[in-house]
Amino acid sequence: MSTIYKFGPHKISAGQVFLRTKYSFGLVNLKPILPKAPTANEQAYHLLTTVNDSSSGHVLIVSRRPVPRFLDLTPEEVSDMFQSAQKIGKIIEKEYDASSLTIACQDGPDAGQSVPHVHVHVIPRRLGDFANNDDIYDQIGHNTREYLTELDAAPVLHKGVDNEERSPRTEQEMAVEATRLTSLLEQM
Ligand code: AMP
Repeated sequence: MSTIYKFGPHKISAGQVFLRTKYSFGLVNLKPILPKAPTANEQAYHLLTTVNDSSSGHVLIVSRRPVPRFLDLTPEEVSDMFQSAQKIGKIIEKEYDASSLTIACQDGPDAGQSVPHVHVHVIPRRLGDFANNDDIYDQIGHNTREYLTELDAAPVLHKGVDNEERSPRTEQEMAVEATRLTSLLEQM
């Protein structure tokens, strides 16, 4: 029987999940942050390759227990979550020709959390990917407080993500990225 993953009110398709540990799972993002691709000059200067498709490497590590706040996690769960973030961070930094990572947790609605289920964002970063480096936090924290109405709603797939300006990816696009990440994790 296949495990059903839930992320807050969202049902997660098995194809989105690339990592499974005792206390956490990793999933590719329905609406990843897509930093601007480096210009030709930037690429030449920084020896970057262009990453301009919908696979941005913006992934999430989620606690298996569906609790909303970081404080709700046990020490074992915290440790597992951050060890998972460290592991996949190493992979996505290389896979997406990045030179750094943003690892972020929006802990509670007033910090921008839109899905009330503890999760860590892991996002590959490169020099010049945002006009201002900290603009990424505007992107991550596009909080509309939709989660409040979602709490009363029946679980739905692909609804109420945090940024309505980004279009959702297809199941197939997400599955391609998740499969690639699973295979890289297996090779580690
Ligand atoms: P936050 O605003 O910190 O709670 O982040 C929620 C993240 O979950 C955003 O990056 C969303 O794009 C992402 N997200 C929401 N729903 C889904 C879903 N069904 N599958 C994958 N990612 C999702």
